[in-house]
Amino acid sequence: MKILIISGARPQFIKLAPIIKQILKEDDMKLIHLHTGQHFDENMSKIFFSELNIPPPDINLNINRGSHAELVGKMLIDIEKVLSKEKPDAVFVAGDTNSTIAGGIAAIKLLIPVIHLESGLRSFDYRMPEEINRRLTDHLSTLLITTSSTATRTLLSEGIKKDWIFQTGDTMVDVVLNNLERAKNESKILQTLNLTNQAYFLLTLHRQENVDDKERLEPILKTLIDLNHKIVYPIHPRTRNRIKEFKLDYLLKNENIILTEPLGYLDFIQLQENASIILTDSGGIQKEALTLKVPCLTLRDNTEWVETLEQGTNILVGADREKIFDAVSVFTDKQKVDKIDWTNPYGDGKSSERIVKEVLKRFKEGKMVVPTHFMVK
Ligand code: UDP
Repeated sequence: MKILIISGARPQFIKLAPIIKQILKEDDMKLIHLHTGQHFDENMSKIFFSELNIPPPDINLNINRGSHAELVGKMLIDIEKVLSKEKPDAVFVAGDTNSTIAGGIAAIKLLIPVIHLESGLRSFDYRMPEEINRRLTDHLSTLLITTSSTATRTLLSEGIKKDWIFQTGDTMVDVVLNNLERAKNESKILQTLNLTNQAYFLLTLHRQENVDDKERLEPILKTLIDLNHKIVYPIHPRTRNRIKEFKLDYLLKNENIILTEPLGYLDFIQLQENASIILTDSGGIQKEALTLKVPCLTLRDNTEWVETLEQGTNILVGADREKIFDAVSVFTDKQKVDKIDWTNPYGDGKSSERIVKEVLKRFKEGKMVVPTHFMVK
């Protein structure tokens, strides 16, 4: 089976790494890895291939400038060329970025079946470009891989056939569990930043709806500073640009903020593991925090990772000052933290192996084909 994997953004390199490794172990599979170039800096792209021990992508399209339409448009054109030449048996996409939707559309138009990792997630909020990407990709896929029963139920409710869905755990959990010991042994980030266990909060902030609007970004940063606690902040390039544009640099100079460039995976895991609270608007980090048993505040109005809210490992605070202060006081109260249910709803760390075996099995059974059920009444 010839399989073409499409990546493009930081979280995709991470969640796809164990899938790539597993495919490379399978005698009956041939892998082509296409990187759209969406994320291109050394510390947003290359570092993850070396740290997670996967070969660099076979093809890099270097597409990273322009509006959403320009990016998706350019990707579609170039991915179609690659697919027409390579003729893979299936295209494997992950998550909810512009690379995901571009890969999905290019493939299905050539009648190449699409496999979507992290299907069925919904924020029910079209202000998020990710929601558009994930919904459309789900509805053009042949195999929809879900991380939990909530996601599976969502797909069923949208009319997706049960036998197109494969529910297993989350591959990001596989990566955390497989690299935790390495992070402890190899990362020197705590020493470099002069930090001790539990003595700081860790922040990430880069969602378009948070950082592209000065009226939202400025109060968020001011509130975080007013928490009056040490906050380590590896800043995303998107946010760095907006902060400069909005002339908010003065906020980053505050003594409570320890600013770093985006970090490699091992350093970032080590920082998460030792933080007392994680504050984030990232999708992946909400799950990683649960996996590492660190309380998480999500700086968004909604989340796709509803299990984290149900179990109390995560509190949604949006950009609301009062909610942020309240949630921090919950998570600094030992009695309350002791009541949190840390059972991992996202699998046992062996999901990638199950996914690749399932893909191969379905291919051998002749099931990896573009569905035509819509045409046959
Ligand atoms: N991450 C990292 N270095 C950083 C910040 C995040 O390695 O400085 C990792 C993090 O551990 C997680 C992933 O990047 O696995 C999350 O990516 P991001 O927040 O960019 O994307 P999202 O999950 O929101 O789509």
